[in-house]
Formats: sequence, structure tokens, C-alpha cells
Amino acid sequence: MQTVTDYFAESAGKSSFIRKMFEKGLELKAQFGEENVCDFSLGNPDVPPPAAARDVLRAIADDAVRPLGLGYCPNAGIPAVREKIAVWISSQQSMEVPASCTIMTVGAASALVDCFRATIERGDEVIVPSPYFVEYGNYCGHFGGVLRPVATKEDFSLDIEAIANAVTPRTRAIIINSPNNPTGAVYSRDELERLVSVVEDENRRRGPSGKALFILSDEPYRAFAYDGVEVPAVLPMSKYAVVVGSFSKTLSMAGERVGYIAVNPALCEEDGGAFVSTLVLVNRTLGCVNAPVIGQRLAAAICGETVDIGIYARRRALMAEVLRNAGIEFTMPKGAFYFFPKVPGGDDFAFVDKLLEERILAVPGTGFGRSGHIRLSCSVDEKIIERSAAGFKRAVEAVK
Ligand code: PLP
Repeated sequence: MQTVTDYFAESAGKSSFIRKMFEKGLELKAQFGEENVCDFSLGNPDVPPPAAARDVLRAIADDAVRPLGLGYCPNAGIPAVREKIAVWISSQQSMEVPASCTIMTVGAASALVDCFRATIERGDEVIVPSPYFVEYGNYCGHFGGVLRPVATKEDFSLDIEAIANAVTPRTRAIIINSPNNPTGAVYSRDELERLVSVVEDENRRRGPSGKALFILSDEPYRAFAYDGVEVPAVLPMSKYAVVVGSFSKTLSMAGERVGYIAVNPALCEEDGGAFVSTLVLVNRTLGCVNAPVIGQRLAAAICGETVDIGIYARRRALMAEVLRNAGIEFTMPKGAFYFFPKVPGGDDFAFVDKLLEERILAVPGTGFGRSGHIRLSCSVDEKIIERSAAGFKRAVEAVK
């Protein structure tokens, strides 16, 4: 008998390519040994957290062994943590954001799910520049939301005109993710200002009794920008801007599941404060209850720091060299830690198979909404990138 809803019965076959490659990687590593597989499939940050995390965790452990030390906390987060994170977000977003406009969540993932739960009715639409992080479709799909990918330009910059044309009366959010997974694009101030104009014009058209169109900025890679490129702050650009982020990548604590939502202060005032109070309610009732308390305290203590971004910068330079030497075309990523090169021959599945024969794991671009490309994650040691060089060359020869 069918045990699950039609939605999941239908989507089972389409389950994430990233996870599939991850599982394939485990199989190959068991067969040939960990050091003989070049696994570029998953964005699980391997650089150690900042050294200060050790002492902070010890202090948290000493303090936690008391009544309620590991107990429930307010659904929006530990008050002192929210205060600290609000100060940090204020400096990052170049605007005063009070703690009351922030919510601690279970990673950026649950922050996004909260936003969709609070705003999406069945059949509502969410626009995303494509290629895109594939989980967005699932996150809004749970509530009957429909993802509307809009292709970026060839260099992965935003096609503002195409986005404007894709807005319908049912559009509730435009997601942007900069620095971007999978392309490494970082959107310029000019692109963002033009995008904000699209949102502001639409909200004016809808009028005070209409449903708001949000600009939802997903920023877990904010600290990963190279060659001095600016990552402009979106929150001050529009009353309808909402920023979500996490410490998964910036502090290498992806498994500890701590993220946040920051709402433009003017939006906090709108509709009698309904937006933030609804976000807090759904954060509770979707089953998260509150973000993990150890992780919240750790993040608050070291949020001003990051992992050593120089390590990722060196890997980026090395991967660029490996791809160039293999004759693979790519746009140099300005941020994050991924490459999204074109595949020789144009068939991403065929090329991923050829790479597998070389024990190199990559994810087909089709999984991110753009065929003819692969995604490579540089959350691996430089030695592995170096070791992959000959395999990339042979795979290119094989599909010529
Ligand atoms: N958004 C993007 C673009 C991501 O790449 C990820 C994770 O890889 C997430 C959101 C979710 O991150 P987390 O929930 O660990 O903060």
C-alpha cells in the first residue's frame, strides 16, 4: 500500500542528486579507501571552527550542568543570544536591527521553512534565479508553494527583466542567495537595487490590503567573498527584505544547526507585528521548538569570527588551475566555495559518470536547474584537489 502522501510518492524518484552522490561516495570510499576518492559532492565544511570555540564550549559545559542548563528556551531564542546576534547583524547589514526583529532557528534551512510556512498558501509562487540550491523547492513545496526558477545570465548575474516578467499576483517571495550555491556568484549593489525596485513597484501595485511580496535573502555564505568583492547588505534596501543565514559554513558548525532570521525593522511594525510573531509561532509548531541551546550560545560568543577563509581561497585558486589545465570552461566564483563549470560534450550525467570512473565525485548541474554543468564543492583538502587533476584530464579526453 502507499504509505506516504501523493506529494512524497511522486517526488521520491527525484530525490536530491547531491545526496545520491554522497551515498555513491561512501560506497567508493569503502571499496577503494578514503584517500583514493576525490569527493567534491557535498558542502559539509571541513575547516576547523575558530580556536576560541574550544574554551567557549568548555565554559558552556561547566554552566550547562545545572537545572534548566539544557532546558527549553524561548521559541525565538535565548534572549541574551538574540541581543548579541542582533548587534552582529546590525553591523553586517549596516542598519540598526533590534533583537525583537531577529529569531534564532535550526540553521538557515529551518529559517527558510519558517518564512514559507508563515507566508505561502497553496498555489502561491516563489521566484528563484536559476541555477539554485535545490532544497528551495522542497522547503516551499511542503506548504503547496510552487518554485518558479528564472534563468540567470550566462555569467550567473541576475536577469532583472526576466524576474520582473515572472512576477504574478501569486508571487510571495523572490529568493536570492549571494554568495551563491552552486555558482559562486555575488550580486552587485546595482543588481540588488534594481531587484528591490521590482519588489517595491509590485507591492505598491498590490496596495495596503494586498499580500506582500518579500525579498528573501539566503546568506549562509556571506563571509566567503574573494578578491575584495563587496557583498552588499540587502536588509536596508527594502522594508520587505528578510535575511536568513546560519553559522553552518562561517563557523564550520553545520551539524550543530544554528541559524537566524532578521526582519527589516519597518516590516516588524507592519500589520500589528504579525510577521515576526507568526514566524516565532511556526518556528515552535513545525517541531523545532527552539534552536539548539549549546549552539546558540557558541554562535553568540564567537559570531564576530569566521573560519580561516584563506584556506578556501587557496582551494579556489587550485581548483581553477586544475580545471583550466584540463580544458574545462568555468566562471571564476566570486564567493562561497563551489565551482559550476561547463561540461565538455554538454551532457552533465555522462561527464559525471566519466568522473566516477576516475573516482571523482561531482553533482550534475541538472540537480540545480541547469544541465550542461557540474557542481564541485571545495570543502576538501588541497591534496585531494591536486590529486584529481589527472582524473579530470582523462575524463575530458574520454568525452571528446
Ligand atoms: N541555503 C543554501 C544556499 C545552502 O547551500 C544551504 C546548505 O548547504 C542552506 C541554505 C542550509 O544551510 P543550514 O541549514 O545548514 O544553515
